[in-house]
Formats: sequence, structure tokens, C-alpha cells
Amino acid sequence: MAVYDVAVVGAGPAGSAAARTCALAGFSTCIIDKSHFPRQKLCGGLLTLRAKKIYDRVFERKLEEVILHESHSAELLSGDSAVLKLSHAAPICFTDRILFDEFLLKQAVQAGAHAITGVAVKHVDTKANTLVLSDGTQIQYKYLIGCDGVHSTIAHALWGQPLNLKHAALGLELDVPLTDTNYSPDNPQVFFGKVNWGYGWIFPKGDKLCLGMAALPHKNSDLRKCFHDFLLNHIGYIPKNKTQGHWLPYCDFKRHAGKGNVMLCGDAAGLVDPITGEGIAYAIHSGYLAAMAITASFGDAKAAQAAYRKEYKRIVSKLKITAKLSLLIYSKLSRKLFLRALPHSERFGKLHLDLMADNISYPAYKREILKELGLLITRKLTRNKRLFK
Ligand SMILES: Cc1cc2nc3c(=O)[nH]c(=O)nc-3n(C[C@H](O)[C@H](O)[C@H](O)COP(=O)(O)OP(=O)(O)OC[C@H]3O[C@@H](n4cnc5c(N)ncnc54)[C@H](O)[C@@H]3O)c2cc1C
Repeated sequence: MAVYDVAVVGAGPAGSAAARTCALAGFSTCIIDKSHFPRQKLCGGLLTLRAKKIYDRVFERKLEEVILHESHSAELLSGDSAVLKLSHAAPICFTDRILFDEFLLKQAVQAGAHAITGVAVKHVDTKANTLVLSDGTQIQYKYLIGCDGVHSTIAHALWGQPLNLKHAALGLELDVPLTDTNYSPDNPQVFFGKVNWGYGWIFPKGDKLCLGMAALPHKNSDLRKCFHDFLLNHIGYIPKNKTQGHWLPYCDFKRHAGKGNVMLCGDAAGLVDPITGEGIAYAIHSGYLAAMAITASFGDAKAAQAAYRKEYKRIVSKLKITAKLSLLIYSKLSRKLFLRALPHSERFGKLHLDLMADNISYPAYKREILKELGLLITRKLTRNKRLFK
């Protein structure tokens, strides 16, 4: 049986961040993934400045090596009408997860982590601290970091349930050659009002365009049809059998992101922004924080778990703020109001871009959004009053 100080399951952004940090600290570390790399991961590939900042803290190579496109503006649309063009000094970057995830994994390996790819973790014994892989290999660990995504086997071993489907959005996506469309890659677009409790997007991805839609399936009678209508509208055809789907957590924050010497990070811990679906930044951050907690108190699992729990709660308390605001944007009651208000408030979008760039704190963001909303309502009421005079 192979023995490691730390076993990391999943080699997405959370896993590579955790494995690299543990290996750099001198722990014998393995990182296990069921896929061979490079592997595809369904994703819009949008990297915010928040993601870039945390990437720079954890990894070494220049992120620019895997940035396929940078944009200083984005367009928000209601239905098909542009309601707001946002420009921002900090660029919004786009990557392709085939490149990005392999790039991160290579840096974990360069730091000394042992990559075991193409084999899945099939069984976890948290009492004996062992993993059984799909090829029969057994691994013993002192710490286990579960970064195995939304259907986490590790979360299942801890809680008996990895993902609560009531708290999950379904993302549908398709890449088409840029030459098949009239779209400019310099104009990333986000569409509201095309689907309930979610949004659509058209993002650049190298020589392709990525068209996607993510929404709560139980709030839509036929999400796939909504997506196909979206495709017909924008590229004029529905490529056969090309649409792929993947779940992403929606407000599925765990009460505890681990137990004993086991920690959960990234999607496995429900860390996705409820408004935008951004998860890469939180995955890297939580993977790093779990590894740092282990590094700070290696011999004492209780202390390591407590340290990680504190940091996890800090991230969740921020995401809970956007969770509340997501009700304002997506619920039937206030969605119309939001869409009507959007063209009159460039500040709404600017504030959100600032949040994504980590230039404003979550509580300040909430304060400013509510202030802006109050102003809009007052303006609207005084205008109506004048009309009735
Ligand atoms: C359609 C869609 C679009 C998105 N767009 C964006 C975006 O533009 N920007 C953004 O920031 N976020 C986006 N997200 C969210 C983002 O993709 C995730 O939050 C992020 O990938 C989470 O990283 P992770 O490391 O936690 O998990 P993952 O990236 O899901 O990695 C988990 C890894 O674990 C492996 N694994 C799973 N089970 C096992 C097992 N039993 N044994 C071994 N290995 C296993 C998998 O093969 C995988 O490699 C999007 C999500 C979806 C669904």
C-alpha cells in the first residue's frame, strides 16, 4: 500500500492548488484524478481578476500563458436587447479548461506532488484512512482533501450525499467555430430573461465561441429547449449531439467543509457564486486554505480542521451575501424590476465587476447595491408622481 502525508482527490483548480501547496511545504502528496490530462471540463472559462489574484498567490508560472482572450468590456442583455455595456479597467480573461487545468496540475507536479491520473477513487474508509482506486491500488493517507467536484465521492463518504439537486443548477454548453458566426470575440455577452433562475452567455474561447446557459432545472419546464432556442437565435442551427451538461452547486454551502482529517474544497464544498456561477477563484482559494491549515498544524488534525473551518466560513459568509441578492435578480417577483432598472443603472453592473475583481468587499457591495436600488425606486416614484400631477 502506498502511504502519503496528504492525498488530494480531484485535479481541478481546487485539487492542484491544494496539492501544490502541500508539496511545497514538504509533505509527501499524491493527487488522484479519474481522467487523463489534458481533459475537458465544461466551463465558460471566464477568469475574473479575483481568480487571477488568488492564482498569483498559489501558482508560479504566468497565468497569461493560458489566457486566450482579454476583454475590457461586456454586454448585458435582457432577452435580445442590449441594456448595458460595461467597461472596466481590469480585463476579464478567458481560458479553455483543457489548457488551464493541465497547466495547474503540471505546477503541482513540479512542486513535488505525485499525479495518479486515469483512475477513480472508488472507496473511502475514513476510519482506516485508506482509499481504494478503480485499478485496485490502495492508498493510505494522514490527511485527505476532497476536491472531486460537484458529485464528490469524498463528500459522499462523509455525509452520505454529495449534491443536493434542489441546490444545484444545470449548465449546458456548446463550442462553435468562430467562423460559423458573426460574433466579435471582443464582445462577451450575458443574457438575462431567456431562462428562469439563470442566464445565458456567449464568450470567446480561442478560435471558438462558447455558448452556454445555466439555470435551476426545477424552475424551468424544459431547460434543454430553452438552450436550443438560444442556439437557434444566435447561430441559426442546433449542432447534433454536441450539447453537454454539468451540474454546479447553487447555495449548497455545507455546514462544515470536512470532518476529522478530511477536508472538502471547491465545488465539493459548494463554493460557487450564486449570481454568476463563478467557481474557479473559490476552488483555488479553498484548496490553498485547506493545505495551509494542514501545514500550520500537521500533527494535530483537530486544529487543522478548526483552522480550515474558520476560513471556509469566511468564504461562505461572503457568498451568502450574493445568495440573498440572487433572489432579487432571479426570483419571479423582482426579476422584471431588476431588468427594467438595469439600463438606468450602469452602477449595478460596475459594482458587480468590482466585486468580481475583488476591488470591493462583499458587505460594501451589498450596501451599495441596496443604496442604488433605493435611489432607482425613489427616482421612479417621483417621476410617476410628476406624471399624475
Ligand atoms: C457550464 C458551466 C460553466 C462554468 N463557467 C465558469 C466560468 O466561466 N468561470 C468560473 O470561475 N467558473 C465557472 N464554472 C464553475 C467551475 O467550473 C467550477 O466551480 C470549478 O471547476 C470547480 O473546481 P473544482 O476543482 O472544485 O472541481 P472540478 O473542476 O469539477 O474538478 C474536479 C475533478 O475531480 C475529478 N474527480 C471526480 N470524481 C473523482 C473520483 N471519484 N476519483 C478521482 N477523481 C475524481 C474530476 O475528473 C475532475 O477533474 C462553470 C461551471 C459550469 C457547469
